[in-house]
Amino acid sequence: MVSLVTGGAGFIGSHLCEALAEQGDSVIILDDLSTGCRENIEYLSKQGLVEFIEGTVLDADLVSKLVERADRIFHLAAAVGVKLVLERPLHTARVNIWGSHNVLEAAIECGGKTLLLASTSEVYGKQNGECVSEDSLSLLGPVSEIRWIYGASKLIDEYLAQAYLHGDGDDAGASGIRLVTVRFFNVTGPRQTGAYGMVVPRFVQAALRGDPLTVYGDGKQIRCFCHVKDVVRAVMRLVEQPSASGQVFNVGSDEPVTIAELAERVLRITDSDSSVVYIPYSEAYGHGVDDVARRVPDLTKLRKFLGFQHRYCLDDIVREMAEYYAVRGDASLSKPS
Ligand code: UDP
Repeated sequence: MVSLVTGGAGFIGSHLCEALAEQGDSVIILDDLSTGCRENIEYLSKQGLVEFIEGTVLDADLVSKLVERADRIFHLAAAVGVKLVLERPLHTARVNIWGSHNVLEAAIECGGKTLLLASTSEVYGKQNGECVSEDSLSLLGPVSEIRWIYGASKLIDEYLAQAYLHGDGDDAGASGIRLVTVRFFNVTGPRQTGAYGMVVPRFVQAALRGDPLTVYGDGKQIRCFCHVKDVVRAVMRLVEQPSASGQVFNVGSDEPVTIAELAERVLRITDSDSSVVYIPYSEAYGHGVDDVARRVPDLTKLRKFLGFQHRYCLDDIVREMAEYYAVRGDASLSKPS
């Protein structure tokens, strides 16, 4: 089985490549090293377990050549992270929309491929229900709020994927590909960088250094953090199921925590004397940010479909990340910008 992983040198991508190589797949990685880094796949490259191609999903010819060689394509390459999206909204839109377009075009052209499209909980926008299921409405914020370009671009990807799958007119339903979409909810774990805004590596690294943990806003916003290895297991099982094709799945954890509580837990688990400081969003990002107050996935569909069970709780994740950063540090923070 040949698996192509776009964004394979990134945080989630590198864990996925490791698991694919472990099960004996030939793994091709396409990554432009914009937010990913060589260190993430160093061990895999050294052992000859992956073929690494440095390039972008915006290069349609390259994408086409690599897709042709693969049986399965895991399309993870995307511009992610609130901080990055705010700094580079145009880049975000280009990479996310044109990159996915190129991958989908190539898969359709070749036919017979299985494709996994990585999407995000951001597509639900400001949907603040008890928990959001795959059929919940998307409540994206106003166009003037630039952060929504991330959710909007990934939602376009999802619609594009459905359109490619169904085809037009006489070709309807004859795409010859299998395609499953997964919406990731706050995936975290070792190797995640804090450079683009993700809160868990930022808190854990600050606690280890003895620096203050900086909470944005009032700290009452709610998230559920899922270990990347649980996410990878779910993804690998979903692509094996023909009946998953055409479907969308929430993938994450449903163990809610406020960001203020997360800060306290990180301090307790790392036994750190760091303080916790609260700053407004305008100070954190240079201008106001429309944050999501509550983001909890309904995982009923994933659980029923796969009989899925998590192996890691939040405390396990923080403990493992503390051990990891104490030894390795954050590779992306030393990357030339
Ligand atoms: N956050 C924070 N301090 C940080 C980074 C993030 O308080 O150093 C907050 C952020 O405003 C958000 C939550 O933590 O409310 C989760 O942020 P992250 O960027 O990890 O994920 P997302 O916003 O995409 O859920």
